[in-house]
Amino acid sequence: MKTHSVPDRGQDLLPLFPEHSLVTPDGELVIGGVGVAGLAERFGTPAYVVDEAGLRNQARLLRDGLAARHPNSEVVFASKSFPCLAAYQLFTAEGLAIDVAGAGELVMALAARVPPERLYLHGNAKTTAELTMALQAGVGTVVVDNFDDIDRLESLTSQQTPVARPQRVLVRIIPGISPDTHESQSTGGDESKFGLPADQAREAIARIRANSRLQLDGLHLHIGSQILATEPFARAVEVLGSVAALGTFDVYDIGGGLGVRYTLQDEAPTVEQYLDSITAAAAAYLPAGARLVIEPGRSLVARSCVTLYRVTTVKRTGRTFVAVDGGMADNLDVALTGQPFEAAIATRMADPPDEVVDLVGRQCESGDRLVGGLAVPAPAVGDLVVMPVTGAYTYTLANNYNGALRPPIVFCRDGQARLVAERETHEHVLALHRPARQNPIGEYEYPPDQLYRAHIVGEASPDVAST
Ligand code: PLP
Repeated sequence: MKTHSVPDRGQDLLPLFPEHSLVTPDGELVIGGVGVAGLAERFGTPAYVVDEAGLRNQARLLRDGLAARHPNSEVVFASKSFPCLAAYQLFTAEGLAIDVAGAGELVMALAARVPPERLYLHGNAKTTAELTMALQAGVGTVVVDNFDDIDRLESLTSQQTPVARPQRVLVRIIPGISPDTHESQSTGGDESKFGLPADQAREAIARIRANSRLQLDGLHLHIGSQILATEPFARAVEVLGSVAALGTFDVYDIGGGLGVRYTLQDEAPTVEQYLDSITAAAAAYLPAGARLVIEPGRSLVARSCVTLYRVTTVKRTGRTFVAVDGGMADNLDVALTGQPFEAAIATRMADPPDEVVDLVGRQCESGDRLVGGLAVPAPAVGDLVVMPVTGAYTYTLANNYNGALRPPIVFCRDGQARLVAERETHEHVLALHRPARQNPIGEYEYPPDQLYRAHIVGEASPDVAST
């Protein structure tokens, strides 16, 4: 993991924090008008805290910015980046369409009452069951990734009587573009498992066009994620327009991928620079009047969320390890891609640092190191730690490593905090193992969830009392 130079005070990190963040004269971080100390008391830690108005503003920036430059356009929220029901609702209310990859995200979108015609269904391994569900739900667009998708769509639509409307589809192509990003986040190179090369796309298009129950709207591509330059996106638009042998289309969907700043050292294009670049390329290379679709995930949601942790241990062994009550179970990105993050002590943001520490998680991997070389003011057990820019792919990748429980999501706006996703409980986890359970949970001396709740909100409990 890269270490990096560090700011003088936690408050110097504010440009990375959600738009509606401030530090009180006492040094406490406030998000959406709500102080983090109160949030930790009320909702426990770890917790994902979201600046709701910031999320809305980012949606508007992308939506209005794209429409101003290319009126026939659409912004689609790539919901894999933040599969949270309240986010589906918020972005739908802001006029965005929603991209779902598979049945799980489709179920969430439908549960959030996203109008089905506003959904794009993705996936390189869609099952018959998923496509059946999508067609029955009335999903607006299916993004065809392979010939098996076409086989299934042909078969399923032929069983529909009467046919309400032809199923709209896009064909995903492999653009042969490998932007500078982590290997696991690069999806447009020649070796990609996603999409079809041009010659096969031509065949797919011919098959789709020959079927009156399918309607080919256009082409799709997605070159990757956390891309910190605009040029690869412009090149992607050029590729779409230049596979002229495939014909011309009404719709060109260039996927997502715009990167964001995680540290003060990062330089990311602004949304405006990104939009300037893709719309200039669209004007140059796409047919006049064609619809330009983008599918941002990370750039929509990353900055509006922070993760709150509580310090459980400070250990000095030559290095100083500050261990918190979360880790790679709630933020896998660090271990998966080496993504550097920043962090600060959330109630002492104005204090100068006096120690350089490794901020580590509680999962049993040495790679569970959230931030290396972090300068903080005298860390102590019980301190609240905040990590900014955790809105994208953290909740998505949250897992039960070492029996960790998925943290809650709290939306803050105008001084009000509202719980939008509950903390996972031991009871939820044990429910999956009901077939093997020997005794009902109530027979335990200390019901696990009662114990856990007591622990996270600092109430007296046998565990806490004994420490
Ligand atoms: N569209 C597709 C098809 C994707 O696979 C992804 C994520 O990798 C996105 C959009 C969103 O990408 P990002 O979050 O980088 O904007």
